[in-house]
Amino acid sequence: EAAEARFVANNPLSRKQHELAVGALPGGNTRTLLHTAPFPLTMKQGKGAYVWDEDGHKYLDLVGELTAGLYGHSNPIIRETILSTFDSVGLSLGSTTVQEHKHAALLCSRFKLERVRMANTGTEANMHALAGARHFTSRRKIIVFSGGYHGAVFSFPNGKPAANTVDRDDFVVVPRYNDTELAVSTIKSTVDLAAVLVEPMQGAGGCIPGTREFLHAIQDAAHEVGALFMLDEVMTSRLAPHGLGVELGLKPDLVTMGKYLGGGLAFGAFGGREEVMAVYDPRLEGSLAHSGTFNNNTLVMCIGFEALSRVFTEEACVELNEKGDRLRESLKHVTKGTKIMFTGRGSLIGVHFVDACVETITCGEDIQATERRDLRDLFWFEMLEQGFWTTRRGFVALIMETEESELVGFVAAVEKFVERHREIM
Ligand code: PLP
Repeated sequence: EAAEARFVANNPLSRKQHELAVGALPGGNTRTLLHTAPFPLTMKQGKGAYVWDEDGHKYLDLVGELTAGLYGHSNPIIRETILSTFDSVGLSLGSTTVQEHKHAALLCSRFKLERVRMANTGTEANMHALAGARHFTSRRKIIVFSGGYHGAVFSFPNGKPAANTVDRDDFVVVPRYNDTELAVSTIKSTVDLAAVLVEPMQGAGGCIPGTREFLHAIQDAAHEVGALFMLDEVMTSRLAPHGLGVELGLKPDLVTMGKYLGGGLAFGAFGGREEVMAVYDPRLEGSLAHSGTFNNNTLVMCIGFEALSRVFTEEACVELNEKGDRLRESLKHVTKGTKIMFTGRGSLIGVHFVDACVETITCGEDIQATERRDLRDLFWFEMLEQGFWTTRRGFVALIMETEESELVGFVAAVEKFVERHREIM
């Protein structure tokens, strides 16, 4: 309560902005995740690895726009591409373009896909990929996992579809991500199964990596029953040079992507085996339509291409994820024996507050029973006071512009937090 009172006292302009915003937006909000009580901070500017709020406080940006902000706020190649595309090509031409093919070819070669199609968000990518899987198999049901998040209308918290999930009755939600036996038996017993859709690491569900054994077993089981295996790599494609699926030796029929692959602007894509993607070939009788005014807008095609080919190169990908692994290890070291646990892989880190009885986290259910939201909120308020912008729910997505020395500062802040609250840790 004291931390919240300090937050209110320190942020009068964010508070005022919130009071104004509720007049146009329900709850002052247009992305539910960003609502935080008593009111959210309103950010005013981003530069390099930092953001500034309306009240003038400066924070190291550890939110990284939930993985889409990978390049940071001031990348010169991205800036130059935005300006030069506007001047030399234009934003959207109402036609197919060379830029669209270039970005598609790059995505295919980088992520080992035979064909790819563009969309505007990860949600859309999943929507079209799911429709494609159903069309290809002439089946209807989709298996997903508790804690899985595949976009605004494909969310499966607490073992069931969220209220706004479309086609709710067509999803079978398997509890306990990483429970191989349960997943395989559900796949084998589900009638009319078109596809198994899974994140190789649950992102929004808490940065919980899927084990190699689990992911391979569900891939094999899906194929055994004639269903497609679909990997949602919207968050995880950044975790290895060719995506996490390739890193783990998986061979998905379809892959969905998004976030940073549009260079920081709205983007989604789905791709995979040529035979499956042919359901979207307009030259073929009975194929599916895939529309979207902005699917191939030249600005995003150009930025996405330049950013992936020149900024987040395969080498840069390895480097960023190694930096993330070092950070996670340091964080674990300074919080050993406390109620704080860190999960994730490479540059994506989940921060969890659980009663000390939890030893490892392999699925959302491990967290839910003993989660300490009071500590989680206290952590968020105090990190803000020390100049670190993290998500309230406990998620850190590193951005390329952050220096190792700045991360050392974050580790020190976490250590200070542990010391200050030792008696409740
Ligand atoms: N799939 C996963 C794994 C995601 O994490 C997200 C977004 O966080 C999405 C899909 C949806 O992407 P978008 O927010 O671009 O619609």
